Amino acid sequence: MTLGSAIDRCRAAGLRRTKALEELLATLLDAARPMTLAELAASPRLVTQCDKATIYRLLHRLTDKGLVRRLGLHERAAYFALVVPGQHRDYLICTECGSIAPVDAPCPVHDLEDEIRAKSGFQNLYHELEFFGTCPDCS
Ligand SMILES: [Zn+2]
Ligand SMILES: [Zn+2]
Repeated sequence: MTLGSAIDRCRAAGLRRTKALEELLATLLDAARPMTLAELAASPRLVTQCDKATIYRLLHRLTDKGLVRRLGLHERAAYFALVVPGQHRDYLICTECGSIAPVDAPCPVHDLEDEIRAKSGFQNLYHELEFFGTCPDCS
């Protein structure tokens, strides 16, 4: 997804196009992995652009609109990732330290998705999975 189409999706959802929104979307797009609020606030694009509270409010509005996905166990270990149509990731989350990593294995759910699509008539079907456990550092 390009920054332009990410901005278009936000505007279609009723969000105002601001510099802060643009920089937040660009940062999430570049990162291509879930980021915490603290990481976002400290990232080069955002650190000069807006404070943590502004980023937090933006993330909540984006999550409400289904444009950003919130991952993780609780507020203190929350990660945020851009929802990109047609692309999905499954994640591994450590219940001890809250770390998060994409699953490094082929997704087995796509065959199931095809079956569900055929049986239910749903279009634009997608899924995202979260697996929980104890990471090597914590075990
Ligand atoms: Zn851990
Ligand atoms: Zn999957």
